[in-house]
Amino acid sequence: MAAAQRIVIENGAIATVDADDTEYTNGYLVIAGNRIEALGAGKAPEGLENVVRRIDASGHLVTPGLVNTHHHFYQWITRGLATDHSLFDWLVALYPIWARIDEPMAYAAAQGSLAVMARGGVTTAMDHHYVYPKGSGDLSGAIIRAARETGVRFTLARGSMDRGEKSGGLPPDFAVETLESALAATEETVEQYHDASFDAMTQVAVAPCSPFSVSTELLCEGAALARRLGVRLHTHGSETVEEEKFCHELFGMGPTDYFESTGWLGEDVWMAHCVHMNDADIAAFARTRTGVAHCPSSNARLAAGIARVPDMLAAGVPVGLGVDGTASNESGELHTELRNALLINRLGAHREAALNARQVLRLGTYGGARVLGRSTEIGSLEPGKLADLVLWRLDTVAHASIADPVTALVFGAAAPVTASFVNGRQIVEAGRLLHVDEDEIARSTRAEAQRLARIAAG
Ligand SMILES: [Zn+2]
Repeated sequence: MAAAQRIVIENGAIATVDADDTEYTNGYLVIAGNRIEALGAGKAPEGLENVVRRIDASGHLVTPGLVNTHHHFYQWITRGLATDHSLFDWLVALYPIWARIDEPMAYAAAQGSLAVMARGGVTTAMDHHYVYPKGSGDLSGAIIRAARETGVRFTLARGSMDRGEKSGGLPPDFAVETLESALAATEETVEQYHDASFDAMTQVAVAPCSPFSVSTELLCEGAALARRLGVRLHTHGSETVEEEKFCHELFGMGPTDYFESTGWLGEDVWMAHCVHMNDADIAAFARTRTGVAHCPSSNARLAAGIARVPDMLAAGVPVGLGVDGTASNESGELHTELRNALLINRLGAHREAALNARQVLRLGTYGGARVLGRSTEIGSLEPGKLADLVLWRLDTVAHASIADPVTALVFGAAAPVTASFVNGRQIVEAGRLLHVDEDEIARSTRAEAQRLARIAAG
């Protein structure tokens, strides 16, 4: 086998996000093949062989790539609708439109979602996709194809809904699958696409949508299926007061107790939102190491509330950051969620002691990797880990006068990405995606959004 090709990055600030939060004000990092080989203070060692490229990172901060832990790509083509609604009214307004999606729409929407995230420093993305209308084509295949083309590492959370209106659920009956077909299709997706290897680019999780859109049987059998197949479990939980009321009325208990009764707490589970959690709920998540995808902008957009992230972290709950679907977070960016997570949590009970810049950088990188079950491979810059990393430009007028690079990244304006690497392969150069055509994606997403609007109005 040929010796691995090396890329040397020098002269930049580095925030490793390792266990000790090691930082270098002026350091180097060596990529060999798809791994980080070495990093440290000062210049790279002399005499390295097979160096194919040297990057001068002066004026930059190098961090692990951002990891997104919650999203719904298809919503890229239904942005800007129901802008003044809270969650349940917003869902009821949008379900009939979403139920008309097809494969070309899902593909274009995934391309748009991935393009904006990747351009903004995301190296690992996920899509919780749960709308599979009959006859709509191979939606999962289209989403995975878009992720491979963009070049990001990817987890598809194969979602499902089987509790329609006639079973007391929120989605219309025509938008749901049956229990049997949802389970069979999920198993098939895992078998076809899930890669369990260290440097996997595609993984699959089992992901029934939410307590108010899936049956108790689907939750129980979904959990059993995931554990039989050895993959992770994902869903929405404790997002709003309405969901809490729904669970008490239908199941006689709150969402966290309901999840525990259906097998949905555990270190192989991560859940989006977790806004309405009491102390006992947080203790149950901590005891079971159940992960949380914190989505501050979406929670604000839908007036859901402020998740108790400082309390979760103090209790030892694994927490990552999420964009959430872009019908409730039109920007679709994750790097701006770092800033929003910090600011929104300071509006909660903990005031200025809530979160600091380094904690939110950790949420957006290592924390995300941990909830996706990939923290041994990615999420921090350490020798032997996969080379997923970003060079943020901080020497322009927007950031140059901010005292500290991590503070500049989190508190300042959205920083431009000079280069982004996934698995040792560059996917962004000077803010542009290298492997897909952004202008073409802008055209196709607009066309598919207009086609969906016409069909839904029809
Ligand atoms: Zn969501």
